[in-house]
Amino acid sequence: MTPLGVAGADLEPSNAALFYQRVRPNGLRVATHTDIRAIEPDGVVLIDVHTNEERVLRDVDTIVLAIGRRSNDALFWALRERLPTFRIGDCRAPRLLQHAIYDGDTIGRELDARLAAAE
Ligand SMILES: Cc1cc2nc3c(=O)[nH]c(=O)nc-3n(C[C@H](O)[C@H](O)[C@H](O)COP(=O)(O)OP(=O)(O)OC[C@H]3O[C@@H](n4cnc5c(N)ncnc54)[C@H](O)[C@@H]3O)c2cc1C
Repeated sequence: MTPLGVAGADLEPSNAALFYQRVRPNGLRVATHTDIRAIEPDGVVLIDVHTNEERVLRDVDTIVLAIGRRSNDALFWALRERLPTFRIGDCRAPRLLQHAIYDGDTIGRELDARLAAAE
């Protein structure tokens, strides 16, 4: 569910295609232009963010709220003393997918250069 016109609005096109290729066959349905007005015992009250029109979603098993973001860096701190360890992607700071890819590419090249220098 997103108040925006598309899920993954910040994804660049090739990652957006990969996202939809993975989630659509698994039955994910996206409600766009939609927000939650209330979570009640017998259902979730949704609103159209432009018209305020309400509808109720019933038979809901689980609600996952994606609100705010923070790094999960426990593995980094657990390994840091024992291994050469690098923080990349959201472990370093929650950002966008392309930043994680850039971090991974950068550290991969750096490791490659270190290995070449050691030979
Ligand atoms: C709700 C939401 C919407 C987003 N929308 C967008 C968007 O539209 N466009 C965009 O570009 N970005 C978006 N992002 C951000 C994007 O998802 C992240 O920037 C990207 O996934 C970071 O990649 P990553 O590989 O660093 O981390 P992750 O994709 O989080 O991968 C880390 C992996 O490590 C695993 N892991 C963690 N700890 C351990 C451990 N101790 N042992 C084993 N495995 C472990 C996790 O389970 C996870 O699979 C969104 C993020 C969220 C939460």
